[in-house]
Amino acid sequence: MTVGMVREALLYEGLTGGRVRCHVCQWRCVINPGRVGVCRVRQNRDGVLHTLNYGAASSVAVDPIEKKPLFHFYPGTDVFSVGGWGCNFHCRHCQNWQIACTDVPRDSQYLSPEEQVRLALDHRCDGIAWTYNEPAMWFEYTLDSAKLAHAHGLYTVYVTNGFMTPEALDAIGPWLDAWRVDVKGFSDELYQRLAQVRKWRGILEVAVRARNRWNMHVEVVTNIIPGWNDAEEQLKGIADWMVEDLGELTPWHVTRFFPMHEMQHVEPTPVSTIRHAVEIGHAAGLKFVYSGNVRGEGEDSVCYSCGRTNVRRLGYKAEVVALRGSSCSHCGAELNFRTSEAPGRRTGDDYVERAEEETP
Ligand code: SF4
Repeated sequence: MTVGMVREALLYEGLTGGRVRCHVCQWRCVINPGRVGVCRVRQNRDGVLHTLNYGAASSVAVDPIEKKPLFHFYPGTDVFSVGGWGCNFHCRHCQNWQIACTDVPRDSQYLSPEEQVRLALDHRCDGIAWTYNEPAMWFEYTLDSAKLAHAHGLYTVYVTNGFMTPEALDAIGPWLDAWRVDVKGFSDELYQRLAQVRKWRGILEVAVRARNRWNMHVEVVTNIIPGWNDAEEQLKGIADWMVEDLGELTPWHVTRFFPMHEMQHVEPTPVSTIRHAVEIGHAAGLKFVYSGNVRGEGEDSVCYSCGRTNVRRLGYKAEVVALRGSSCSHCGAELNFRTSEAPGRRTGDDYVERAEEETP
C-alpha cells in the first residue's frame, strides 16, 4: 500500500480506552484499537482513526453523465468517473462487489487529487463523479478533490447509497453539485434483507438536506428486483416521499435488475414491472420517471406542460433539443435542469461564501 494512502481521518472523536467513534457514515462505528469499522477502510491505530484508502483508485473512466444515471444534470457532457475500494453496505445484488466487498489491495494505484483533476481536464470532461463504490468511503479524498475540481471549473458528483452523516454532508456540501442517491425500497425489512442495514431512514433526511441546504441537484435511482422491492407499497412509498420532500420535479430512475453477486438465482426484472413502476411514479405526481436498462423506452425528457421532447436519449447518448436554461424552450415550464446556461450555476467562490455563512 502506498504510504500516502494512510492518513488521519476527519470526523471522528476519541473515546475512553483508546476507542474512537467515526462520524462519516450513519453506522457511527465505535472502533477498538487495532480494529477497523464496518467498511474495513478505516482503522483505529493507537486511538487515532486512519483512512486506509486515501487516493487508492480501483477504476477510472470517461463516462457520459447519463450513465450515472443523471438525466437533468448537464446532459450530454462527459464526466471523469473514479472509484475506490470498500463499502459500508453489503448489498446482495451489488454490481461492483469486486471493489466494494474487499480490503484495499496492497498494490492499488494511487491517484492524487491533482492528477485526477488534470486527467479530467485532459480528457475534456465537464466534471468528476465518485462512483462505482460508495464515495463516502474515501470521504477525505473526495473532499480534497472536490475543492480542487471546483477551483478548475469542474462540476462534482456523488453516486451514493446516501448513508453519509449530516455533518459529513455539510463538510463537503459547499463543493458538491449533484447527489445521485439510491433508495432501494421503503421499509425497514427491505433494507435489512437487501443491504443488512436496519436504520436506513437517515438516507432520506440527508438527501433532503443535500437539496435544501446545499442546493445540490438530486436524482433518485431504484433498482427493482423481482420479489424483493417490486411491491406497490415499496414503490409508492418512494414516489410519495420524493414528491413530498424533494419536489415533483425530482427525476426518479426505475431500473431493471439483472442477476448479480449473491442474487444469481433471481430472474431479470420484467419490462412490465418497470412500466408499472413508471405509472406509480406518475400517479404519485412525479413529472420525470425514467426507465433504466430498457433500451429505447422511457429515456427521453418530455415537458409535462406542453408534451414536447426536451432531451432525446438513446442508451447513453443525449441530444438536447428544447431547453432554455432549466426550462422548456417551447412553453417555458420549469423542468429542474442544471445546464451551463441555467441561472444559478455557482462558482467556486460562491460555494465558499455560502459555506462560511452557513457553517456554525
Ligand atoms: S465510514 Fe461508516 S462504516 Fe466506515 S468506520 Fe466510519 S462509520 Fe463505520
